[in-house]
Amino acid sequence: MPTVLAFMAHPDDAEFLCAGALFLLADLGCEVHVAAMAPGDCGSPDKPAEEIAAIRREEGRKAAKLYPGEFHCLEERDLQIHYSPATTKKACSLLRKVRPEIVITQSPVDYMLDHEETARIARAACFNAPIPNAPCEDDSAPLGRIPHLYYVNAVESVGIYGEPVKPSFLLDIADVMERKTEALAAHDSQREWLRKQHGIDEYLESMRSWSAEAGRLAGLEFAEGFRQHLGHAYPHDNLFASLLEGRCHPPKEAE
Ligand SMILES: [Zn+2]
Repeated sequence: MPTVLAFMAHPDDAEFLCAGALFLLADLGCEVHVAAMAPGDCGSPDKPAEEIAAIRREEGRKAAKLYPGEFHCLEERDLQIHYSPATTKKACSLLRKVRPEIVITQSPVDYMLDHEETARIARAACFNAPIPNAPCEDDSAPLGRIPHLYYVNAVESVGIYGEPVKPSFLLDIADVMERKTEALAAHDSQREWLRKQHGIDEYLESMRSWSAEAGRLAGLEFAEGFRQHLGHAYPHDNLFASLLEGRCHPPKEAE
């Protein structure tokens, strides 16, 4: 079974946007890895950056164990994630270490630049990792080929002008929705922060409502939306959908 890497910006992005897919792929026997570009060091109203970062790395590990999977942090910093020689080098090293055949990353169009830049870094890492002379931090062997690359839905399925960002297929996650909720709940610090601020469990509720909203696009109760990167040289066969056959549906045409 292929190895899967969710390559995200922050420690809880995988649980918000693709945990259903990670559970289903792990159930099939895929090895699962989750990477965060940054440790979530801006994710607290009162704790210093390094204190909250330590808490959030631990929460990332706790969530990843549920798939089960391994958590990695590339130790950039929140709100400062950039496509650069240094970040593409780090990301190339991670890919050569993990050796994924499927990479899932953030939407290239999203509400925050950390997410958009992470999508660019992941795209570059997939392209670079098979190139023998690509700059890399360690001497692991180059990948045999470019991994299959997928983008998750934009948060709330909208771009920066409020325009809809439409996934090309929707994954039915209704029967793993409770496990997805449990994985997101591993990020206690974030859940508590919102609960204190808004008085309701908005953290888990927003994930559930986004999953329901994605589901509506294909007449499903809960779904996660994805788009495959189909640029030149990237694999064009939809390995993700063939592994999860019967669960992936095209969006319905708007009525
Ligand atoms: Zn994020």
